[in-house]
Amino acid sequence: MTTKVRVAVNGYGTIGKRVADAVARQSDMELVGVTKTRPSFEARRAAEKGYPLYLAGDGAEADFAAAGLSVAGRLADLLKKIDLVVDASPDKVGKSNAALYRAAGVRAVFQGGEKSDVAETSFNALGNFAAALGKRFVRVVSCNTTGLARAVAVLSPKWGVEHWEATLVRRAADPAESKRGPINGILPTFQLPSHHGPDVRTIFPELSIATTAVVVPTTLMHVHVNHVRLRRPPGSTAEVLAAFRAAPRFRVFAPWEHVDGTPQVMEFARDRGIGFNDMMENVVWEEGLKLDGPDLYFFQAIHQESIVVPENIDAIRAMTNPSANAAASIAQTDRALGLAPAAG
Ligand code: NAD
Repeated sequence: MTTKVRVAVNGYGTIGKRVADAVARQSDMELVGVTKTRPSFEARRAAEKGYPLYLAGDGAEADFAAAGLSVAGRLADLLKKIDLVVDASPDKVGKSNAALYRAAGVRAVFQGGEKSDVAETSFNALGNFAAALGKRFVRVVSCNTTGLARAVAVLSPKWGVEHWEATLVRRAADPAESKRGPINGILPTFQLPSHHGPDVRTIFPELSIATTAVVVPTTLMHVHVNHVRLRRPPGSTAEVLAAFRAAPRFRVFAPWEHVDGTPQVMEFARDRGIGFNDMMENVVWEEGLKLDGPDLYFFQAIHQESIVVPENIDAIRAMTNPSANAAASIAQTDRALGLAPAAG
């Protein structure tokens, strides 16, 4: 029997709690503990699920004791018991944690809120799985970049990408972030082009891509408006749809399903009811995709809270098993998470 990879999650918030559950569901991984800085409903959830709780940052044991939550130690104690830590702390905090991980001699997966130089490579499972094989520090790119990178990974090998233009319609806040806005407005991102294109190039360095973004008052899902000029275009729109249907981590909705937009996507996810009612796949609509000569137009929707979760799992597997295979890892991850297998 092979030994399981011992994993910790440092930062048990929106991403961290999802990654913790996902790790716990993998037969080749063991969730050794998670960290919290303060007692909260999420800390209680971790305790109820039997995840050992450790203190991170300036967290005080007395605060947890007062809340009736027992802690097993501090982050430094947890790092002694593991092979790999998934850092899901807030933007830029991961970079300051990197020194702790290096000193403890553990591997680390960082998130997209960190700059790419925090790690040896940026990562997307469909895009560049092999780049993470055996690496010690890997960064899973952000939600928008993950969504774009998956789509590039489907289209580029088949038909070549001359140039990719995308406008990102971004959710303003995550559902629990009640202090963020706007609640009535559309905010253009005055960074032209936006940082997302260069971030996609951390996975596909040769790709010609330019992105722009606007922020809208919604909390569930981003929508990407894509225009892709293909080098060797296929003969029909149907061929492109078939490619997305055959790819893992894509869900193509047919017109008869009456999924008009993100509200129905999230309702679908609630009906399906996998962890947190998440939608970890890129969502593409049959009616929202059209090939016009070499020009492909398509919308895709990205559930920001969950799309990076399977990518974290594959990053762990690639880093800790130098002979891991991308397709096999993706299939194993998705099976454990309850995602449908690719149709092709
Ligand atoms: P979050 O604020 O929901 O969770 C962060 C957690 O870390 C909180 O529980 C916080 O208490 C805890 N924390 C604070 N200081 C800490 C410290 N010093 N050490 C350990 N934990 C600490 O944030 P999030 O949305 O989960 O984002 C985490 C990372 O994931 C960021 O890099 C972010 O950019 C990235 N990301 C977020 C999303 C998203 O839509 N939320 C999507 C993709 C990637």
